[in-house]
Amino acid sequence: MEQSKAGFLVAAFAEFFPGATEIGSYVGGKLIPGSGDEIQLFDPATGEKSVSYRDAGADVAALACMAAQEAQKTWWGMTHAARGRTLFAVAAKIREHGEALARLESISTGKPIRDSRREAEMVAEMFEFYAGWADKFHGDVIAVPTTHLNYTRREPYGTILHVTPWNIPILSFGWQVAPTIAVGNAALLKPSELTPFTSLAVASLAEQAGLPAGLVNVLAGYGHTTAQAAIANSIVRKVVFVGSPATGAKIAESAARHLIPCILELGGKSANIVFEDANLDMAAIGAQAAVYSGTGQSCTAGSRLLVQRRVYDELVDKVADGARRLRIGHPLESSTEIGPISNRGQYEHIKRMIVAGVAEGAQLAAGTTDFEPGGYYVKPTLFAGVSNAMQVARTEIFGPVIAAIPFDTEEEAIAIANDSEFGLAGAVWTNDVGRAHRVAGQVDAGTFWINGYRSVHVASPFGGYKNSGYGRTSGVEALYEYTQTKSVWVQTAATPTTRVGRS
Ligand code: NAD
Repeated sequence: MEQSKAGFLVAAFAEFFPGATEIGSYVGGKLIPGSGDEIQLFDPATGEKSVSYRDAGADVAALACMAAQEAQKTWWGMTHAARGRTLFAVAAKIREHGEALARLESISTGKPIRDSRREAEMVAEMFEFYAGWADKFHGDVIAVPTTHLNYTRREPYGTILHVTPWNIPILSFGWQVAPTIAVGNAALLKPSELTPFTSLAVASLAEQAGLPAGLVNVLAGYGHTTAQAAIANSIVRKVVFVGSPATGAKIAESAARHLIPCILELGGKSANIVFEDANLDMAAIGAQAAVYSGTGQSCTAGSRLLVQRRVYDELVDKVADGARRLRIGHPLESSTEIGPISNRGQYEHIKRMIVAGVAEGAQLAAGTTDFEPGGYYVKPTLFAGVSNAMQVARTEIFGPVIAAIPFDTEEEAIAIANDSEFGLAGAVWTNDVGRAHRVAGQVDAGTFWINGYRSVHVASPFGGYKNSGYGRTSGVEALYEYTQTKSVWVQTAATPTTRVGRS
């Protein structure tokens, strides 16, 4: 592991773009350098400088819009079955390059390689799922009470812009782009400026698999410049945003100004509720997975662990013990379960939140406030003795930090769970089947697990309640989001049924 991130990154990137001399945006089938400010990246495992590139800027965004508009005409002109076949070919291409993609993802994000491998595989599964839908998603015949045949067509918007965060770049590609193009749209993807690499790589693979050049364009650069320039371009007809609530509000404002709809997938502070009758060993393992997987940089993290008072100490001990056993290491080591935090800004935020938790009286059952210099590593942390009013229970930390909150009754657990601005996900652990479903029905959340945590699948809808956003970008619901309905009326009467001006 002595090679620097810059060396690793350049080599891993060159596997997809041999001969490329600089990082740019993937537009119309070509890598185009940006002309905006320089973006300097750092190696999360060491904190040292790695590669840099220039923000795409408004000119490249405009080129991408034009390329998308052209390619979309070709794509929508193909048969539904041909589009489906092409998406299956994209999935196969991603699988073929799965290991190289996983390495590129781990080097650029700090994500453990075992997680990146799984996520690359999930992207292939996403393309397969929507490939199957490409020729099965269509309109209806409506029983109108006249002599008309009335039917609906599900038609694409044209070009859809996706603006995504740094924690799951490769997964975001499948999650966002596969349903978008399955129903005939072109896609512009603006990944986080911190992690553009696997998006660029998958876009080029997708084209090798048969997508028309320009159907999927990846804009490498900042949001306030490049993404905003794309939103302002009249070719973009819908915006899908995944990221923080603060940026989501800015995106929604810009979309409103240009009269285009948007979908927002925002943050979370999800409640993972454990009742005293639960299988505590299973609940402890689930509580760890709910937060420490992905080093806590997950929107669905079960960062508020609500535990019934009689089993509170026992469960906290079990989770703390598990936290200390997790293997922390370099992202490219196969044994690593916890990698570094992906970037310095996020690392500093997590450290501040841990220090704040101690200052407001929560006890560190696992973890420390002694952070080692060098890479952006944070030990899995568990706060005990937390009240839901504390900052560590209210603010999204987006790191490997659990806040364990005691409760006495079912009503109290539900009240605490819902006492949050967010509503992305949640879970309950109990052996009482009635209670499990009562709680599932009362917690404000777009995704809810019973005796489990973290399962998501492309076939199932995903999205938030409250400040966690609106719209659904997975499952069949995504196909409704990415199409608009046209109602077509066909007169079947032999004689005119309207006689305006003829009576
Ligand atoms: P962020 O909001 O800072 O950035 C997200 C994206 O928005 C990036 O591509 C960024 O370049 C762009 N952006 C920033 N400012 C912009 C502006 N003014 N105009 C247009 N675009 C702009 O979020 P982040 O720090 O990258 O990601 C972490 C957040 O993402 C967390 O809140 C997390 O919960 C959330 N997230 C949500 C989901 C979900 O599905 N609900 C999934 C993953 C992450």
